Amino acid sequence: MSEATTGTATWRDDFSRVLSPVFGTPQLDIVRGRGSYVWDADGKQYLDLLAGIAVNALGHCHPAWVKAVSEQAATLGHISNFFTSPPQIALAEKIHEILDLPEGSAVFLSNSGAEANEAALKMARRAGGGGRPIIIAVDGAFHGRTMGALSLTAKAAYREPFAPGVPGVVHVPYGDVDALAAAINDTTAAVFIEPIQGEVGVRTHPAGYLRAARELTSAAGALLILDEVQSGIGRTGTWFAHQDPAIGEGVVPDIITSAKGLGGGMPIGATITVGTENTGLLSAGQHGTTFGGNPIACAAALAVLTTIETEGLLDRAGRLGEQLRTELAGVPGVAGVTGQGLLLGVELAGDSPDAKAVAARALEAGFIVNPVTPERLRLAPPLTITHEEIAPFLTALPDLLTHD
Ligand code: PMP
Repeated sequence: MSEATTGTATWRDDFSRVLSPVFGTPQLDIVRGRGSYVWDADGKQYLDLLAGIAVNALGHCHPAWVKAVSEQAATLGHISNFFTSPPQIALAEKIHEILDLPEGSAVFLSNSGAEANEAALKMARRAGGGGRPIIIAVDGAFHGRTMGALSLTAKAAYREPFAPGVPGVVHVPYGDVDALAAAINDTTAAVFIEPIQGEVGVRTHPAGYLRAARELTSAAGALLILDEVQSGIGRTGTWFAHQDPAIGEGVVPDIITSAKGLGGGMPIGATITVGTENTGLLSAGQHGTTFGGNPIACAAALAVLTTIETEGLLDRAGRLGEQLRTELAGVPGVAGVTGQGLLLGVELAGDSPDAKAVAARALEAGFIVNPVTPERLRLAPPLTITHEEIAPFLTALPDLLTHD
């Protein structure tokens, strides 16, 4: 493991002197990236099978992304949200196009997934007009770490140290139609669901669940909000996870939230209201952010979306994902594979080392994977990754899953 020096101290000493310890000791100091690979300060190469947790959709420093960011930085860096800029409008238009949004749909741009969900939460509260204080989220959900998004996040360990959260948030068991039906009533403003739950181990819902959620929310006059921050932007083989018929079940949500892969490495979030009925969920002056719609972030996002098209990455994510699923499922020590496309959970057999130990060994061997739960590894590689690049990981995996 790298212990590169910065001045007289190792970077680890340096880190603990100046950075908050919230993420624990970082395992690596990454200094450079290109395509599916990154390098540490010692020049050791790693295959990045996580891509910033589904962020670097085009891999690292893709020429189209670098060009868009650098040209925009040389043209116009920041402008306040009293004004618009061409990249902002072009990005909003592109989002309308890829989602085939109906008339009246509207895009609010922010800087992260948590912010995209905060905006959605405010929209739901406002839509409720005071008479609908309740927001329903589901067990296993992860919606971010700011107070509102955190209140929707299910994991008690994340929420409890900061209690009380936003009032009115109720969690129901995931995938349970009866529990959802019992919880929804005319005090419900919205239901938040991730079409694929990332942080709990890449979990998909039982067939019929999203359709039932749509029917129940529509019948109760509540909003259905899909958080596609992790699962969106091509990862499943469709632009957004809910556009995959098996995942989305033909459902049209009221609000979609996006971030991560959208900027391909630049911070950006989007809260997308669908259709005229939802256009005015926030009106002028009711919400805002200094950097939301920043031209450089928008230019980066536009480059991500257009490159996904020009390089045929949706199709590729779908096909490569299918192939990977089959290959991973055949590896001794793998008990099963969850997810869709290039967002996969690899369930380790009971006699394997735990996922954290496997991920640490993988890092030693030059592969970045994420121990998303004690029994599961998460893979979310760049959409540009090739099978040839992944092959050495597949070859190494049986050894990584064996006890010493
Ligand atoms: N929603 C989902 C589904 C996520 O996976 C995440 C990040 N893991 C977030 C929201 C929060 O995004 P951010 O870290 O950009 O605030």
